[in-house]
Amino acid sequence: MAISRRSILRTGGAAILTASIARSAVAAPAVVGLRDTGARTLSFNCYNSGESLKATTYWADGKYIPDALTDINYALRDYRSGEVYPIEPKVLDLMHQIGKKLDTSCHFELYSGYRSPKTNAMLRQSDSGVAPHSLHMEGEAVDITLPGRSLKQLYQASLAMRAGGVGYYPDADFLHVDVGRVRQWVGWG
Ligand SMILES: [Zn+2]
Repeated sequence: MAISRRSILRTGGAAILTASIARSAVAAPAVVGLRDTGARTLSFNCYNSGESLKATTYWADGKYIPDALTDINYALRDYRSGEVYPIEPKVLDLMHQIGKKLDTSCHFELYSGYRSPKTNAMLRQSDSGVAPHSLHMEGEAVDITLPGRSLKQLYQASLAMRAGGVGYYPDADFLHVDVGRVRQWVGWG
């Protein structure tokens, strides 16, 4: 997908504009890879807190943007305990890549981001499917849907990334993705 002038302008910044045009002038990539995009933006509806995070550009011009990561870490906090933990940027990149692959604006519905050890232990008491060392505790996993795309589309796009674990929960209507080992499962609840 070629980067349109309009989408470049939306990211702001003359440096980004110049760099992006220079890159896209060389060759339009067949598949949008992370190195080929001028900026990486995500937005969230956080189901459990009822909050939303507007479109946030967390990476631009070759760098992660600390203030944006802070906002995202807060949105993806443990909503039960209020604890905030740094979310592994690779998880954000994975979501961004999946959202782009499905030709969306990368607006996700978030069901679970960071989970504190205490919250994870509490969840395990009522749900045997919760892993004792869940990657949610490391800030390396999210439970999501992608409004405008089916859960199955999200599942298949995530699997195609081969970037970590993918857990498909069709009954509960969410997808778990993480940046741990490449593996996949179908879950319930
Ligand atoms: Zn999960």
